[in-house]
Amino acid sequence: DQGSHADLTGDLNPAQRAAVEHAGVPLLVVAGAGSGKTRVLTRRIAYLLAARSAHPGQIMAITFTNKAAAEMRERVGELVGRRSGAMWVSTFHSMCVRVLRREAKTLEMSSNFSIYDADDARRLLTLVARDLDLDSKRYQPRALAAHISNLKNELIDSESAGSHATNDFERRAAEVYVEYQRRLSQANAMDFDDLIMRTVELFQVFPDVAEYYRRRFRHVLVDEYQDTNHAQYTLVRELVGREPTESGVEPAELCVVGDADQSIYAFRGATIRNIEEFERDFPDARTILLEQNYRSTQTILSAANAVISRNPNRRDKRLWTSEGDGEKVVGYVADNEHDEAAFVAGEIDELVDQGVAKYSDVAVFYRTNNQSRVFEEIFIRLGLPYRVVGGVRFYERKEVRDALAYLRVLANPDDTVSLRRILNVPKRGIGDRAEACVATHAERERISFVSALRDAVADKVPMLNPRSRKAITAFVELLDGLYELVDSGVEVADILEAVLDRTGYRAELDASDDPQDASRLENLDELVTVAREFTESAAEAAALAPEPDADEEPDGGVPEPGSLPAFLERVSLVADADSIPESDGGDADDDEEADDAGVVTLMTVHTAKGLEYPVVFGTGWEDGVFPHLRALGEPKELAEERRLAYVAITRARERLYVSRALVRTQWGQPAANPASRFLDEIPAELIDWRREAPSSGGGGSPRAATTWGGRPGTGSDSAQSRIASGGMRTTGFKGAGNDWKDTVALKLDAGDRVNHDKYGLGTVVSTDGSGPRATATIDFGTAGTVRLMLIGSVPMVKL
Ligand code: ATP
Ligand code: MG
Repeated sequence: DQGSHADLTGDLNPAQRAAVEHAGVPLLVVAGAGSGKTRVLTRRIAYLLAARSAHPGQIMAITFTNKAAAEMRERVGELVGRRSGAMWVSTFHSMCVRVLRREAKTLEMSSNFSIYDADDARRLLTLVARDLDLDSKRYQPRALAAHISNLKNELIDSESAGSHATNDFERRAAEVYVEYQRRLSQANAMDFDDLIMRTVELFQVFPDVAEYYRRRFRHVLVDEYQDTNHAQYTLVRELVGREPTESGVEPAELCVVGDADQSIYAFRGATIRNIEEFERDFPDARTILLEQNYRSTQTILSAANAVISRNPNRRDKRLWTSEGDGEKVVGYVADNEHDEAAFVAGEIDELVDQGVAKYSDVAVFYRTNNQSRVFEEIFIRLGLPYRVVGGVRFYERKEVRDALAYLRVLANPDDTVSLRRILNVPKRGIGDRAEACVATHAERERISFVSALRDAVADKVPMLNPRSRKAITAFVELLDGLYELVDSGVEVADILEAVLDRTGYRAELDASDDPQDASRLENLDELVTVAREFTESAAEAAALAPEPDADEEPDGGVPEPGSLPAFLERVSLVADADSIPESDGGDADDDEEADDAGVVTLMTVHTAKGLEYPVVFGTGWEDGVFPHLRALGEPKELAEERRLAYVAITRARERLYVSRALVRTQWGQPAANPASRFLDEIPAELIDWRREAPSSGGGGSPRAATTWGGRPGTGSDSAQSRIASGGMRTTGFKGAGNDWKDTVALKLDAGDRVNHDKYGLGTVVSTDGSGPRATATIDFGTAGTVRLMLIGSVPMVKL
């Protein structure tokens, strides 16, 4: 009825309302951060159900991260209740897995395929490169993986990769690609990029399959459209269709929302072309702009606008808010990263003490995952409750991966990467040589690795010594025992327990004195807990599931809820990109309700996309950290870093802090980084500097003031004494006193990284002469290439 529709649009501004109510032609909503794009998308779903009598099963919503998908599912759930269960709200990857499992037969695959993550893919590439006798220095698995991933993002398959190659590396990489795909298919596995590419292929090669999904999903909605790559764009296009099919199925309704200024995944092939040329891709599309920001204070918005406006070639858009100026941005220059963490912790403590914020209102951002450790240490010491999102990811720990590899072999015996991973873990006397014999046999006979193992038991593998054969026999028997257990239908956690016990994995850790092994045991227990919760929630979901509609077919190919394949699928997908273990992420909100103070969230800026917090700490704002070292002197990458800074700033609702450290330990070496250029781009009048870089006369080295390159200021050392600063000082340099730079031995070689007072960060191109005549030619990126003498007091350090 009319009343409920008004409820859905009554609190929206006219542009937002237009986007929610729009029907028909493809719709693009472009707008800056915090202008309600995600809100529009969620409301639109509710509106489709309430006002346009769409069925939940006709709706497919795609988000960029698992976290975002979970939030959207929750928001939609609040709006429409249990009916939301039949919708597909997921990431591109999850959606593709669902389609591919269902359609495996069409693609002549088995539906229990394994999903290889980045680490699995690199392992397989290492094997392939070795077997092709490639120089491991020139053809590093990481570089090969990146190259192949780029090709897949462009939908270039292994057969045509060769014809796209333009140099030696690419030609060899194309050969690797062919072999890599062959091994993947032999292992009944796909990597993340395959998930998208194969689904596109499915839709393009089998129009009847495409038509089935088009008939089914009449509404496709995509959040964060600026971060789609070419493969994902094509997938959306195939899903929606551009003209009626032969049997008359009209294109589905498409609604995408995005912000070109927040495109931060170019390194994964994302391209803002997809936003900029939406109207070309979908002629007669409609575009709606949103300009009012509902998230942040004017101060925060002005800071964000000032930074992003430095990027070239962007469409200028001004965000405004009716919220008022609010607090100034707080700036802080720390001595080192420990001092910075102490400042952040102290400030959070104070905000909470004064009742300004709860822990759960606060987020601490950093550029790269490894920066979390220092914060964690001080938070633990001070007893501040916190949670790291992403970070040293649970699912990336060795013991967790080992245990999962066993489960994967149990679900899919052909999964060679997993099988070879656990072949001798824990050690059971199957050495590299034995493994090589089996692998060679498998290659020669063109059989799977597991079949070759069975041949070994039957003594059909040449060159295998009897002791190895015995060890392999025991291993195969162990696996067979576990297969029986799986067939008997026990729950996943019990299979996992059996793996840990029967293999001796747990016993080995139990017997160890190494404290790290104790934490490994904890992680394995945590994995068992994840498995138990998985079974419970599958049971609950089954009990709550809505009666299937008569007109809706059941999903073929989807693993049975609660089964081992379903568990593995869940795990591979949460382990993707952003995520946190389910046992952690799933009930975070319950925690917050139980204890309304909640926890502080620590995460990288990439992970923070789409989220918002009343209080945000942006840390490590140093050239070489943020912007990342890699981006200095690279205009394209620098522009991407600046968009990242824009994302960071615009997460804040009320209070924003920005901090940097004068010295930070990187790669085990103390490095003096200059202030981030993004700090200078925030208008000075918006920042209230709580502590600035020490000025000359501020004690210590007189030269320090120039070195730090910071703002001239009062250098209030008193603020420092307020903070319990832990850890290193600048005197950490070899035998150096205050004036450390004079004593640093500048023996430079080509390729070394340096930091110069005046020119900033650079890379040594070449060196010449020796002793007092030694010189170096150094590339300082935008500051140019400079030849410098290396004698006397050089205002430069080697990093
Ligand atoms: P981002 O670019 O960061 O993803 P976004 O454009 O998706 O941001 P939302 O997260 O949807 O923005 O909205 C930002 C905040 O503003 C949310 O708290 C949302 O509830 C609120 N908001 C959006 N529109 C309105 C409105 N019309 N009235 C009140 N609050 C609104
Ligand atoms: Mg959003």
